[in-house]
Amino acid sequence: MHSYPLYYKQPYQKTHAATIVDIVDGALVLDSTICYPEGGGQSGDIGTISGVTLLNTTKDDDHTIYHHVAEHSFVVGAQVGIVLDWNHRYHYMQMHTAQHVASGLLFTHFSIQTVSVHQGERILTIETDAVAIEPSLCYQLEDLVNDVVRQNHPVHYEVHTQSSAQTLGLRRSIKVEGDGVRLVVVEQVDTVACGGLHVGNTSEIEFFHYAGQEKIRGHIRLIFTVGALAKEEIRKVENVAAELGVLFSAPLQDLVDAAKAVVSSAVQLKSELRKAQQLLAKLSLASLVAEAELVASVPVVYWKIPQEIEMKDVPQAFTEYDELVLCAAKESDGQLSWLVGLQGKATGLLDFPAKKPALLAAIQGKGGGKAPLYQGSAKADCDTFFAAFGALLK
Ligand SMILES: [Zn+2]
Repeated sequence: MHSYPLYYKQPYQKTHAATIVDIVDGALVLDSTICYPEGGGQSGDIGTISGVTLLNTTKDDDHTIYHHVAEHSFVVGAQVGIVLDWNHRYHYMQMHTAQHVASGLLFTHFSIQTVSVHQGERILTIETDAVAIEPSLCYQLEDLVNDVVRQNHPVHYEVHTQSSAQTLGLRRSIKVEGDGVRLVVVEQVDTVACGGLHVGNTSEIEFFHYAGQEKIRGHIRLIFTVGALAKEEIRKVENVAAELGVLFSAPLQDLVDAAKAVVSSAVQLKSELRKAQQLLAKLSLASLVAEAELVASVPVVYWKIPQEIEMKDVPQAFTEYDELVLCAAKESDGQLSWLVGLQGKATGLLDFPAKKPALLAAIQGKGGGKAPLYQGSAKADCDTFFAAFGALLK
């Protein structure tokens, strides 16, 4: 059961009445359709079918076209009305046409071949065979494509046999098998085999914009925006630049330097803050050690770590001491982080690995580590942990 495709003959038809001939896993098969199915780097049409949202259009290897609609109560035999999301479809027609023009000009002017293309919801990407492309070349390409847009080149289709198509010397090999090869001809600019949908004239591309590049599989992939969305993207970038200008109190030409200076100063401040935090941990522990009770001449410190001290700075502070029992804990977000350190003769006061299971059971905790430091988390509060640890020391 095929949904007979009308989109090649009538690419500008936005609405269509059809009959449901099959329903497969909820997807509608119609007697005929204007909905272009996903494929060849182009997304499927969306819109509504008799008021129900059309989420996507796909096809199978048998060329049957499926209309994936939201929850529905359609039955086979019913008459339905398709309304395309025209902005969505038209943008894809613009992007497809722009892609052929851009790939054609890349080849004829710069000897750069197109390896693969992708039309996204907002951007068009062309993966090239080049390992590097100067931005200046991309701007030249942008200008050349926009010249073609202004020059109003008609776009038409030709159906060829494989052998007649081969004689045309196309820049790109034909990927479909059999005769009935559909060529899209952007007159005087590019001819390529393509099963996609295109605008009827290059002026309908409206506007072609180079939006950047990235490296993929060792090649350069160029990123473009097309038509109304190109303008939207440019305005978005301008708005971001304007907001950053206010934020950094700098005009556009000084913005990058101003941002660099602020980032560099933030990095410096962060590094100074870390040093201060580490010093705070050391000094705090030192004052506790100075006042600590001694057990067999080893100071025993119970340390309820305040919020301003980072738990990660405690081990370094601890290693400053040759003789120390440290039982430390920090409460945050209803969770207890605990740390036990046994340095020097302290190891003789407590066989921590042997006693750890009992301690963890008492505080509903978990954790590990090896001499001289053990760490973990627990559900109990600080005081319960200290009491449970104190009981082990006796
Ligand atoms: Zn195409």
